[in-house]
Amino acid sequence: MKDDEATLRLIRTGPRAAPAFSHPFAQAAGPPLSPGDTVRLDRVRLLSLDAHGRVLDWMSWQDAACLYARGAVAWTLGDPCLQVRGGTNRDSGERSVLPLHPIIAARGHARSKALDPTPALTNAALFARDQHLCLYCGQAFSRQALTRDHVMPLSQGGRDTWENVVGACFPCNSRKGGRTPAQAGMPLLAVPFRPSWIEHLILSNRNILADQMAFLRSQLPKKHRFASAA
Ligand SMILES: [Zn+2]
Repeated sequence: MKDDEATLRLIRTGPRAAPAFSHPFAQAAGPPLSPGDTVRLDRVRLLSLDAHGRVLDWMSWQDAACLYARGAVAWTLGDPCLQVRGGTNRDSGERSVLPLHPIIAARGHARSKALDPTPALTNAALFARDQHLCLYCGQAFSRQALTRDHVMPLSQGGRDTWENVVGACFPCNSRKGGRTPAQAGMPLLAVPFRPSWIEHLILSNRNILADQMAFLRSQLPKKHRFASAA
């Protein structure tokens, strides 16, 4: 589907989903989605599942529309949240309208190695995991003011892995230097961890719809490290 042949309309978002996690010392918050919020419209993502209901990834409305057009949608969850208006029928003069659902299962099933992959360790993902806090001083910072700190420094054999990196502000990172937290007398405020794929999906989308969040939450382990009643 060509972009210029389609217009997009937000028809229902429900309340913006509450964060799935409550951080020990902070809460992420964002403005709610509302119909007609055109700035955010293109940021709405549809949750893609395989036919067995296993979570795959976020997808754009364009990709979702292609699935519908190819007849590749096995089933959906939730009421339609977006409407794509297509071309005009030459005979009837009516425009086609395609409702898109917030959660879409495509035919077929995912290869097992496509399930629960390790999220890429980007700074954006790292800072999202740590809720844009410096894990040494506990202050919140913009993305530009944060750095990737290696808890066990690379110079001491530390590795660039999820379990060994935290977000840190410039002053804390430079104060710590090439030392471990113990050597620097700077204890960590939280233990770094590798997010599961589901956690990654929650952390990487600031515009999760209520139906999607409910579904993703149901996929989190019961005794989740971030489990909360948020
Ligand atoms: Zn700091």
